[in-house]
Amino acid sequence: MVNCACGFPRTTRTSWTHDNPGRKFKACKFYNHETGHRGCNTFDWVDVEEPTNWQRDVINMLVAEKHRVATDNHILKSRLVCVEHQKNRLEQELENINRKPLKRKEIVNKSLGFNAVCFCVIVSVVISVIVVKVMN
Ligand SMILES: [Zn+2]
Repeated sequence: MVNCACGFPRTTRTSWTHDNPGRKFKACKFYNHETGHRGCNTFDWVDVEEPTNWQRDVINMLVAEKHRVATDNHILKSRLVCVEHQKNRLEQELENINRKPLKRKEIVNKSLGFNAVCFCVIVSVVISVIVVKVMN
């Protein structure tokens, strides 16, 4: 195994840039794509051959599709949690309605509860979109 100029074994990573999606490379262990820091700049592609244009296009399309599906999945999961919460609340309300007739003050309180559920749905969707952005 060849060490980098820092004297450490090189690490194998996968590039997800537009030009080299899915392509493996060996680099300095201090290489960090998030900060742009490249350590001692040791860098070699594992596959000497570059991907063809159609391979690059297909991989980039699949990566974009994967991100879209992951985002949809996060949004749907958080909506499901809110819908289940709303279902439980409505079942509880129905039970209360069947038990006794409603007074005017109780009706007002229940509409406030519905607003809280709407707020919960909006907040969870916003949070899941932020989470997905941060993860990508
Ligand atoms: Zn190094």
